[in-house]
Amino acid sequence: MRIIDFRSDTVTRPTPEMRQAMAAARVGDDVLGDDPTVLELQQRVADLLGKEAALYVPSGTMSNLIGVRVHCRPGDELLCEAGCHLYHYEQSGYAQICGVAARTLEGRCGVLRPEQFEAMVRPGDAHYARTRLVTLENTHNRGGGRVQPYEYVEAIARWARGHGLRTHLDGARLWNAAVATGIAPGEWARHFDTVSVCFSKGLGAPVGSALAGPRELIAEGLRHRKVLGGGMRQAGVVAAGALYALEHHRDRLADDHANARRLADGIRQIDGLALAPEEIETNMLFFRIDAALGTAAALVDRLQQRGLLVLATGPQTIRMVTHLDVDAADTDRALTILAEAAAPT
Ligand SMILES: *Cc1c(COP(=O)(O)O)cnc(C)c1O
Repeated sequence: MRIIDFRSDTVTRPTPEMRQAMAAARVGDDVLGDDPTVLELQQRVADLLGKEAALYVPSGTMSNLIGVRVHCRPGDELLCEAGCHLYHYEQSGYAQICGVAARTLEGRCGVLRPEQFEAMVRPGDAHYARTRLVTLENTHNRGGGRVQPYEYVEAIARWARGHGLRTHLDGARLWNAAVATGIAPGEWARHFDTVSVCFSKGLGAPVGSALAGPRELIAEGLRHRKVLGGGMRQAGVVAAGALYALEHHRDRLADDHANARRLADGIRQIDGLALAPEEIETNMLFFRIDAALGTAAALVDRLQQRGLLVLATGPQTIRMVTHLDVDAADTDRALTILAEAAAPT
């Protein structure tokens, strides 16, 4: 039985062409700074995002952590949306490793309105943490792959600058936001001091993220990457996969978005399943399961027995994500399996 995997856009395998690019990669020792493929990738990312420099790192978690580290000192506080990845899924690394506190604002589907930031800067006396950094996530993972409204991003970044705060964008899926809106990655990135992007999600590369920003901050970030154990030697082998993905797999994210909409249309027809949020903007969808159908975990099991992998994200919620390794036919097959597994017995 062929398994169709909709758990995450991280499950993709490198394509034959990507593997060829990786096999042929020129390499050096990136810790010594002379891996030509890593240098090329970093330059390409910096150019795409309109930043002076970029740093290739093993994961998005490390990229966000280094982002926080270059902006903040112990005793500083960052402002972020309550459901964001950095706050939720990264073990509070900002606190463990950086000595930084997080103050959350409640968004709608991960979206914060600019006026929510009013009065969020703490007074500058010794009772308080120092408000230092604003982070946003685009697209927003737990918000259902939501694209941040561009004019909000602009206004929030302007507010932050006006208060002398730094800004960091968790752009693990910035490529999806760019394709969904037609607003180039560099246009989004312009509003932030540092931007983290990912190659191993929608783009389908096996490993890595990058942190882009001003030259001095990225040089500082290189030191942090080393102490975190993120210095990789002949990293050009994996960086070549990332470079290949940047050139060849960005535009096709539109197919993932179309497949997600197709999936959503089908799920709307299945009794007992309810999309939440309703609108699908990019490649992720979440739905609630009526208690009459049992728990999410039980449904996940029934789906798995039929060859469909999805992720339970709560007692009654399931997530599905489209990506490079599922096509429209897989989407239709998934809908057939879902309808069977959700049918009353
Ligand atoms: C996956 C993800 C990360 C972390 O990336 P890893 O490579 O898994 O560490 C950060 N931010 C967002 C929004 C993500 O979806």
